[in-house]
Amino acid sequence: MSTTRLLIPTRAAQQPDWAPHWGELDTVLGELTERPPLVTAGTAAALRDELAFVARGTAFVLQAGECAELFEDSAPDRVRAKATLLHGLADVFESLTKLPVVRIGRFAGQFAKPRSSPWETLPDGTVLPVYRGDAVNSVEATEVARRPDPRRLLRAYDCAGSALAELAGSDDPRGAGDVRAALAPTYVSHEALLLEYEHALTRPDAAGGRYASSAHFLWIGERTRQLDHAHVELAASISNPIGVKLGPDASPADVAALLDRLNPEERPGRLTFVVRMGAEKLPKRLPALLSALGPRAAHATWITDPMHGNTRQTAARQKTRVLDDVLAEVEGFFAAMSAHGLPPGGLHLETAPDDVTECVTHEGQLHSPIPLPRYETACDPRLNPEQAEQVVRLAAELTAR
Ligand code: PEP
Ligand code: MN
Repeated sequence: MSTTRLLIPTRAAQQPDWAPHWGELDTVLGELTERPPLVTAGTAAALRDELAFVARGTAFVLQAGECAELFEDSAPDRVRAKATLLHGLADVFESLTKLPVVRIGRFAGQFAKPRSSPWETLPDGTVLPVYRGDAVNSVEATEVARRPDPRRLLRAYDCAGSALAELAGSDDPRGAGDVRAALAPTYVSHEALLLEYEHALTRPDAAGGRYASSAHFLWIGERTRQLDHAHVELAASISNPIGVKLGPDASPADVAALLDRLNPEERPGRLTFVVRMGAEKLPKRLPALLSALGPRAAHATWITDPMHGNTRQTAARQKTRVLDDVLAEVEGFFAAMSAHGLPPGGLHLETAPDDVTECVTHEGQLHSPIPLPRYETACDPRLNPEQAEQVVRLAAELTAR
């Protein structure tokens, strides 16, 4: 019987209510504890070393993929499509800037979602528990499908494992045309949200500590970065490179405390701040934060997530993002970082490998009462490949400037 659940501190936001399945949860966690690691301590450490170059301005990060992955997205052709998009975008950036790109997928394990409300109201007025990601419940809009099911944690592990196996296969050297992708590994990442799952998958690392074996890179979301809560505790206890999202209200005191807590040895590459303040607020808030931190800001890698601070709604009541806002936030981020003398280290994007129409180009399109036609995301609106390339090209232009 596993005791993993008992080790988790009580203050933790955004956790599923597993009741009445506690016994089953313990069985599942016991099984996960026995499973082989999904990624090795060595590859997680290799990514940390690569991110150290980013902090020095000699490499750039592209982290891209799903908002919420479905288990069925772990089929080999879907995984290949996402990795191909990631590498294609990274290649565009490299060819324009000559800076090497560290490629981190937001996939192979992105199965859990923090939500702004525990409830969802359907168009007919029915109220259901919200979808929390395939590792917890099903996106299907029925009462039964939305009940948390601990056995889903095992499927999350299995799906992440098969996605990683597919990526390992495609990272092997192929034909001459694939040289770049063959040389650059595909690292994977997800939000470290489900505490029991992550704790059950920590393993010993080479230095006598522990690392999270569920992915190379884990991040803590804007809603779970409270200093005295369990997510920061988890991040502090593992040796992986880790990220923390910073929204517009991140205070200098909190960010300074996160630096102390999560990177006390000031290790380059260990901590990445993922700034998602929104195009409107960022130009004031990020410079203020950076000046308050002063030279200490250099103890983290800083990248921009120009999506999560720019979520809007269309007249047809779909969640969307305006590409113009996304581009504006990227510009603001580059300006603020450069003014502070730090490298704008990378992009964190939600992307789809298909020609979806989940994000619009201009603000005026928000007023259309016609629903966006190809809207397929399980959670947040993603950039399609063409939109993502525009964002990457802008970042490349600003880097080369
Ligand atoms: C996300 O990355 O999908 C997310 C929920 O982000 P944030 O924590 O920045 O809101
Ligand atoms: Mn999202």
